[in-house]
Amino acid sequence: MAIEGVRPGEGRYEELRAGFNLAVTHRPAVIVEARSVDDVAAAVAAAVRERRPVGVMNTGHGPSVPADGAVLIRTGRLSRVDVDPFRRTARVEAGVRWRDVIAAAARHGLAPLNGSSPDVGAVGYTLGGGVGLLARRYGFAADHVRWLDVVTADGRVRRVDGEHDPVLFWALRGAGANFGVVTAMEFDLFPVATLYGGELCFGPEAGEDVLHAYAAWARTVPETMASSVLLLRYPDDPAVPPQLRGRHVTHLRLADSGADPAAGRELADRLRATGPRLVDTVRRMPYADVGTIHHEPTGTPVAAFDRNVLLREYDDDAAAVLGKLAGPDADAPFLTEVRAWGGALSRPPSVPNVVASRDAAFSLLAIAGPEPADRAARDQLLEAMAPWSTGGSYPNFSGVEDATPDGARPHYRSDDLARLRQLKEQYDPDRTFRVTFPLTGGGLT
Ligand SMILES: Cc1cc2nc3c(=O)[nH]c(=O)nc-3n(C[C@H](O)[C@H](O)[C@H](O)COP(=O)(O)OP(=O)(O)OC[C@H]3O[C@@H](n4cnc5c(N)ncnc54)[C@H](O)[C@@H]3O)c2cc1C
Repeated sequence: MAIEGVRPGEGRYEELRAGFNLAVTHRPAVIVEARSVDDVAAAVAAAVRERRPVGVMNTGHGPSVPADGAVLIRTGRLSRVDVDPFRRTARVEAGVRWRDVIAAAARHGLAPLNGSSPDVGAVGYTLGGGVGLLARRYGFAADHVRWLDVVTADGRVRRVDGEHDPVLFWALRGAGANFGVVTAMEFDLFPVATLYGGELCFGPEAGEDVLHAYAAWARTVPETMASSVLLLRYPDDPAVPPQLRGRHVTHLRLADSGADPAAGRELADRLRATGPRLVDTVRRMPYADVGTIHHEPTGTPVAAFDRNVLLREYDDDAAAVLGKLAGPDADAPFLTEVRAWGGALSRPPSVPNVVASRDAAFSLLAIAGPEPADRAARDQLLEAMAPWSTGGSYPNFSGVEDATPDGARPHYRSDDLARLRQLKEQYDPDRTFRVTFPLTGGGLT
């Protein structure tokens, strides 16, 4: 029996094969819009029968390899969110975006461990680790998953947790997409109702000083404080707010979840003292407004080529290199984010998982467009930061250029990667789930 779905030239094929990030063009053989676990299981079974790979797309924020010839399962219609305020948990289906969890949890004064953009999918984010604005306080999103329902290559629908299938539970939380299609998961929520946060934007005249001030400041702040620096040159475009238009801007983004807003204010004031701000949105806000802090534009699709390195520290010398290659005078054709890690991110979870990178104090993410020269300039920055690198990189901030057989090496500890490869052999010997960052041979061959 043919797989039920949309094929090239039919109906909504063009719309459904494209996600937010257009860095890859998918040409699936068929696209299935799943409405139930049974739909997912049937699509996987049919793909196995036809010896086709299976791809999964919720929002398309995190592409890896093209889903050419694949059965592409779109999960957006699996959109149910259930919050249990007494157990402080949320159960979400595969197509849920963070914004829906944030809103549902906020009604009870609770917060999930979402990332900077509420438009990102909760499951895709969590399977790669998940470093959000409460991460220094509570850890990776993957550390707080209670169970996952997953359809594996043998067609089984499994409830996977620390008691049932603990090995698969270990692997799914950090390398999930290689082992099946997650249809639902449950995770912890945290009692955070408000933040003191927002962004401070500095113009080119203050840019390098801000990088140094941030290096000194970030070393001293408590685990309740999340922060990052974004460096970017705005186009000379009337759509850009006049104070930013055509200028190099250093954004400092802060989010303090501590109980005392005065303490958050005092910490922000230390950065405000660096110089005049073009924009200052730092304020007390309900947690439900967390997406306004980074306010990432995720409405219009883009072709973004992301790469990252994890840093064991970000000191004055690192700030100087960053300033030289991505600061106001660099005219860098890419955007750069330095994000503070540490705190709970460096501690092991109560139930072990494969998420590595617990030795990172900061992440350095650089995003270029498709032009080869722009990507080469981005790589030059990452190479120049090698003296501060842990040697690792973070799966969620990796892009299509790292979806190679060797690309997974910096994502995991080497003994864990060997174990993941064994498990891949055990659970998915025909590599049905290969439209993702490969653990073994890459591509769709
Ligand atoms: C603007 C922006 C902000 C971001 N902010 C953060 C951040 O703060 N912290 C952070 O850690 N990451 C962040 N990310 C990275 C993001 O977490 C990853 O790109 C993530 O993979 C996106 O998941 P998605 O479902 O939205 O995207 P999709 O592209 O739909 O999915 C990405 C991949 O996840 C896997 N996947 C998705 N759903 C399933 C499923 N049900 N079963 C099995 N595999 C599945 C598939 O391999 C899929 O290719 C950000 C990305 C963007 C573009």
